[in-house]
Amino acid sequence: MSSSKLLENSNNKGSSNIPGYVEHVKCLIIGSGPAGYTAAIYAARANLSPVLYEGLQPGGQLTTTTEVENFPGYPEGITGPEMMDDLKKQASRFGADTRFGYATKVDFSEKKHMVLIDDEKWLEADSVILATGATAKYLGIPSEEKFRGFGVSACATCDGFFYRGKVVAVVGGGDTACEEATYLSGLCKKVYVIVRKQYLRASKAMQNKMLNTPNIEVLFGNVTKEIIGEQVVTGAILTNDSGEDTRIDIDGFFVAIGHQPNSDIFKPYINTDATGYVLTEPGSTRTNIAGVFACGDLQDKTYRQAITAAGTGCMAALDAERYLSEI
Ligand code: NDP
Repeated sequence: MSSSKLLENSNNKGSSNIPGYVEHVKCLIIGSGPAGYTAAIYAARANLSPVLYEGLQPGGQLTTTTEVENFPGYPEGITGPEMMDDLKKQASRFGADTRFGYATKVDFSEKKHMVLIDDEKWLEADSVILATGATAKYLGIPSEEKFRGFGVSACATCDGFFYRGKVVAVVGGGDTACEEATYLSGLCKKVYVIVRKQYLRASKAMQNKMLNTPNIEVLFGNVTKEIIGEQVVTGAILTNDSGEDTRIDIDGFFVAIGHQPNSDIFKPYINTDATGYVLTEPGSTRTNIAGVFACGDLQDKTYRQAITAAGTGCMAALDAERYLSEI
C-alpha cells in the first residue's frame, strides 16, 4: 500500500519537528463519512493506493442518525451505521487501507504534504483529500456546558434511549431538529421543540411529520435562557419574543442547531470562508494548495447531504488522480 521513506530534515522547511522516517503515501484521505469512503473507493479503483484515516467518529455523522430514506438505491431505506459499514467494505474490497487514527496537524508548506496522525506519526502524501466533515454546534450558554452528558446531548439517536417515558426538549428548527424530535417522540412521553423564529427552516416533509405527531409541542419564538437542575437537568427557562420568561419541566435537552466544519487544523494553509468552510474552486474540489482537495460537509454549507458528500468524494478522487498524473 505505502512505503517508508527517509526524509532529510533539511528538506522540510517549516516542519522542523518532523522526524527522519515518515511513511509515504500517494493519496491520503482524512475522514470517513460518505465523502471520505467514496473518495477511497474511486482512488483505490484508480490504483492510487489510498490510505484513509477514520478520525474520532469512524463513519462520520451518519453513524448517529437512524434511517436514511433519501439515499438513491435503497428503496426500503438503510440505517446510517449500516450504510457506512457497507461503504467501508466497498472501499476495502478495492484495496483502500482504512485505519483508526486522527489527523492532529498538517504542514502543507511543501509539495510533499505532511500530515501528523494522533500527534505521533507523520505521513508524507503526494495528494491529500480532506473529508473531515462537520461537528454539532452547541448554544454556548454555561448551563449547557455544565449538564453536557447529564441531560444535555447533541445526538438523539445516541442518547434518546435514556429518556424513555420522560419529557425532553429539542432546540432548533431545521431538518435535524425535526428528525430528532420525531425520533424522540417514539421514546418519550412528550417532546418540546424550541424554535427561535416563528417558522421552521426544515423541509416540508420533515415539518409535516413532526407537526402531526401528537406528543410534540413546538414553541415558536423562544430562545433558551438557561438549563436548570441540580445533578441532572430538570427544566429550562425560555424567553419568548415579548421578553417573557417561562419554565418548562424536562429531563433531557437535545441541541440540534447545525454544525461547524472541522477545518481548524487546515486553516494555517487552506483558505476557508468566515464560518470555517473550506473554499474550493467552483466545479472542482481543488483547494488553494496544489494536491490538496476537499469534499463533503467540510466544504459544503448548502446541501450537506450524504449523497452530495459522496458525489464530491468521487470528484476529489478524480481530481487527485488527474493531479498525480501531471506531477
Ligand atoms: P440547519 O442549519 O438547517 O438548521 C439549524 C436550525 O437551528 C435553524 O432552525 C436555526 O435557526 C437554529 N439555530 C441555529 N443556531 C441557533 C441558536 N443559537 N439558538 C437557537 N436556534 C438556533 O441545520 P440542520 O442540522 O438542521 O441541517 C443541516 C443540513 O442537513 C440541512 O441541509 C438539512 O436539510 C440536512 N439534513 C437532512 C436530513 C435528512 O434528509 N434526513 C436530516 C438532518 C439534516 P434559524 O432558522 O433561525 O437560523
